[in-house]
Amino acid sequence: MEFSTLCERLSLTPSKAEKVSLLSSYFRALSSGDLGIAVDFLLGRASRAGGPEGRANVAFATVRDALSQLVTFSDDRLLQLYREHGDLGEVAAELLSSGHATALVGERLTLKRVRDCMDEISTAQGAGSERRKAMALVGLLLDASPLEAKYLIKILTSDMRIGVSEGLVAEAIAEAFSAPLGAVRKAYLVVNDMSRVAMIAKEGRLSNASFSLFTPIRPMLAEPASSARQIIDDMGKCIVEDKYDGIRLQVHKKGEDVRLYSRAMEDVTRFFPEVVEQISQVSGDFALDGELIYEGGGKLRFFSLQKLLRNEGRREKHPLKFVAFDVLYANGRPLLDLPLVERKRELLALGYDGCAPFREASTPEEVERAFSESIARGNEGIVAKDPGSAYEPGARGKRWMKLKKVFDTLDVVVIGAQYGNGKRKGLLSDYIFAVRRSKDDPALVPIGKAYSGLTDEELRGYHEFFTKNKIGEEGNTVWVLPKLVIEVGFQSIQKSARYESGYALRFPRIISVRTDKKPDEIDDLEKVKELFSAQG
Ligand code: AMP
Repeated sequence: MEFSTLCERLSLTPSKAEKVSLLSSYFRALSSGDLGIAVDFLLGRASRAGGPEGRANVAFATVRDALSQLVTFSDDRLLQLYREHGDLGEVAAELLSSGHATALVGERLTLKRVRDCMDEISTAQGAGSERRKAMALVGLLLDASPLEAKYLIKILTSDMRIGVSEGLVAEAIAEAFSAPLGAVRKAYLVVNDMSRVAMIAKEGRLSNASFSLFTPIRPMLAEPASSARQIIDDMGKCIVEDKYDGIRLQVHKKGEDVRLYSRAMEDVTRFFPEVVEQISQVSGDFALDGELIYEGGGKLRFFSLQKLLRNEGRREKHPLKFVAFDVLYANGRPLLDLPLVERKRELLALGYDGCAPFREASTPEEVERAFSESIARGNEGIVAKDPGSAYEPGARGKRWMKLKKVFDTLDVVVIGAQYGNGKRKGLLSDYIFAVRRSKDDPALVPIGKAYSGLTDEELRGYHEFFTKNKIGEEGNTVWVLPKLVIEVGFQSIQKSARYESGYALRFPRIISVRTDKKPDEIDDLEKVKELFSAQG
């Protein structure tokens, strides 16, 4: 099947299974080189010669000029067709379908020929480059049928719109080369390039796919935790680090060559010469994961950084530092599958002086202490990590959990409690709480529920207290007299239909039990509304 026919059929079928089947039989018939190109084109990557995104960087006017060499049309007609289709590829197909100039001696369009042309277009620079781009395109269009022209232009503009995602291509690769989908996905995480994954799968080498220097991977992410106790309940023992308020950075070094990659895996080396210098001083080849921060402390954000970069003397005024908290590769060995404790050992062995300090914690109190110390150092909170966990690129899960400084707090009264799970089975450990409707109206309106951050002993004490003050029971919930005042911290307030108040707290956690406060002294809905609008 021709590439353009495949695309047309893909765009016409809404069925995912059929798309996978079309793609997989197409993939199976291709040579390795063509397979790589086809996958790129399907995913809207025109060229590998230009920028990292694979765009051909061609102006609308250039496409118009190329088309006008082949058919006659007015600007009005072009505009009208564009309005009708909203897609330059369709416009080209329609213009050319009424008959257009063709080459005297036609040459077949092949994937390779189209790719070479896209490379030529994407790298053309300087005076007359738009004209050269247009001529290269004319060369292809002369040999193209209207359908081929449609997809040529779509590839050129990286605007395929045929309902093919990376996930779908992964499934088709698995089907085409009889590989488990999990193996394709895993290879993709480290190779980070679907077209290479396809070629590796074709060669039956998926299980060898591994991390390599100068191919950044998606950073592993942390799930929010609502309390120190939740971290210990979920993880048991953990490794705790400060949560730095900076920019995620992956640092790769081989010999003299140092490259820095952002969280979105863009090469950002040119922005941070001082980091390149710091890293150059460490011997060996390696890849590190970490956070870029201000040496002097304070919040660092990418947008403010872009501003700083334009600022003369930025380096002197605001020197930056890279704090490394993980190692992905060292001296010839990919380390992703090692447990975190061992990666930490490898990281320290590199001798970089900017490694993030860490400690082990096995009780909520130890986690709380690490948290308060981190806040006192001016950081955002902590990240707790499972010591036995492998580095999972792009994953957000309970192997890494973050506990952030709370945005604000409210004093609320507990109106109900629910039985917990696991170790807390049989204990009332999730508290449902409410605020007053207003200063003058003591009616209580529920606003949230928090997994308690209290110790087991405290929990047992309050369990008894709730049992004594029980006024009703409904499923797993025990409703109680509103007597116990607690202080809850949270990240933000959202509008929500879940609670009668019309608001809900994001990531609420119990900070303290306010035995010093009576239920009529708690906060009210007016305060909640104020905090909500103050968030902006
Ligand atoms: P957030 O941006 O609030 O979702 O938090 C996750 C981010 O915290 C990560 O992507 C990192 O950029 C950053 N971070 C700061 N310190 C650490 C650390 N010690 N471990 C992992 N991530 C960290």
